[in-house]
Amino acid sequence: MISFVLLCKVNNYHAFLKVNLCYFCVKFYILEVYFLGTGTSQGIPVIGSNHSVCKSTDLKDKRLRVSIWIRWEDHSYVIDCGPDFRQQMLTSGCTQLDGILFTHEHADHTAGLDDIRPFFFRQGDIPIYGHQRVIANLQKRFDYIFELENKYPGAPSVTVNFVANNIPFALGNKSVIPINVMHGTLQVFGYRIDDFAYLTDVKTIEQEEAAKLKNLKVLVVNTLRKEPHETHFNLQEALDFIALLKPEKAYLTHISHLLGFHEEVQKTLPKNVFLAYDTLEITI
Ligand SMILES: [Zn+2]
Repeated sequence: MISFVLLCKVNNYHAFLKVNLCYFCVKFYILEVYFLGTGTSQGIPVIGSNHSVCKSTDLKDKRLRVSIWIRWEDHSYVIDCGPDFRQQMLTSGCTQLDGILFTHEHADHTAGLDDIRPFFFRQGDIPIYGHQRVIANLQKRFDYIFELENKYPGAPSVTVNFVANNIPFALGNKSVIPINVMHGTLQVFGYRIDDFAYLTDVKTIEQEEAAKLKNLKVLVVNTLRKEPHETHFNLQEALDFIALLKPEKAYLTHISHLLGFHEEVQKTLPKNVFLAYDTLEITI
């Protein structure tokens, strides 16, 4: 396969297009998103569960803890770094990590931080991005990673980048817009990059934040189950939110076994809404 990068003008802005020439097909893309995990905090199957979805043999019903890998040109980032991070890096074939964007501090989004070690050994300090409160929480839970003196030689190091609402920040050669959402009473950041937005653990969102999500090609948003939940969108809330924002396509993630079988739930969704599944890759 031959790869090269072109600078093109698309819709009045300049974009780098990576071109892969693979046998007889030519593929153009700008941003690649790989779903590393699409499950809720316990993952699917849940340990010890006899639920039929947990027993399903369909690989799309196996869901690791929620995370995505985003790539463009030679840039490579993940959003969140949960307890399945090591397995997800091995399965996806990710060999370069330019940084981690954290949505919030809950363990299903952060517990894999120690496993950045192979990237740290090859690349040096790994940049992390998150709300000041989230970084403070990581400093408490992973104190050895942030130690500056008498540090254990095998421990990884990070460089800290604080994310604040209404302040877009640079990621490689792109700009990221933080989206402030609420996970019950806990503040969480979603992130918009170009025409792509990733929102997880949302229960409520203010109108001015939703206004930052206009004209999306792809929206990823959490959907826990059909029944209501105190801190997560259920299916109807997620579909209402998608209907309000009108992205070209939407993918549902952070899914509980209680939502049902992937194949059956997919059949009930509007034609531009898809259940994400682990290892799904999309280009924007
Ligand atoms: Zn979560």
